[in-house]
Amino acid sequence: MKTYLSEVFSSIQGEGPYVGERHLFVRFSGCHRDCSFCDTPTERTSAARIELIPGSGTFETVPNPFTAEQVVEWIRKVDAQKTNRRIALTGGEPLLQAPFLGELLPRLCAEEYRIYLESAGDLPQQLESVIEWINVVSMDVKLSSVTGEPNTFPAHWKFLKICRDHKVDVFVKLVLSAETDEDELMEAAKVILKAGGEETVVVLQPMTRAECNTAVPTGELLLRWQDQVSSVLRDVRVIPQTHVMMEVL
Ligand code: SF4
Repeated sequence: MKTYLSEVFSSIQGEGPYVGERHLFVRFSGCHRDCSFCDTPTERTSAARIELIPGSGTFETVPNPFTAEQVVEWIRKVDAQKTNRRIALTGGEPLLQAPFLGELLPRLCAEEYRIYLESAGDLPQQLESVIEWINVVSMDVKLSSVTGEPNTFPAHWKFLKICRDHKVDVFVKLVLSAETDEDELMEAAKVILKAGGEETVVVLQPMTRAECNTAVPTGELLLRWQDQVSSVLRDVRVIPQTHVMMEVL
């Protein structure tokens, strides 16, 4: 079995409660969503770019697709100094490649790598098929008032419940724009409580300003939303995309 990758690189985790840790990112091509704020090319490319010297901006171009063994070999090369705390599977949507992950992850776990999955959080069946090899899940709950897509809450709740049932370290990320619907945000908070329990860590991530993303929420709005969501859940943090500030990948 083979997969399409877009990038492999080592960098600083810029999002969520693990911010600042050194992670080795494996970015999969392809996504089933079309979020209005997406900052990642999601289509398959004929080659992946691999940065052997972190932060160098110099990439080796390697033709797609890759076998699991080839991905492991590239991870070993990029992690030659053993400086990465976790392997971050990102995308796109890594769970679209769940059968491939079923080949890759046992190999990585056999080498004692810790696996951090970044996911849109709406493919519960695919998650269940690979969760035994995953240590941390960063799952999105997508608000339709922000993504511009139909609401997919039921799939998110199943996804979160699977993480809880398997006792995986999970946190929920909600990207917020100035157009966030407060009723929708509070509905999400209440169901996160029901599916994940009150100790579920929730990260409110303000949309990063970009040419196509100008509806960035104000500090006043973020403080208000943090207060509101904190009336339902205990651990609500506002964390922007810090890698953008540091100008790293
Ligand atoms: S789920 Fe992530 S990768 Fe997919 S379109 Fe949305 S922001 Fe982009």
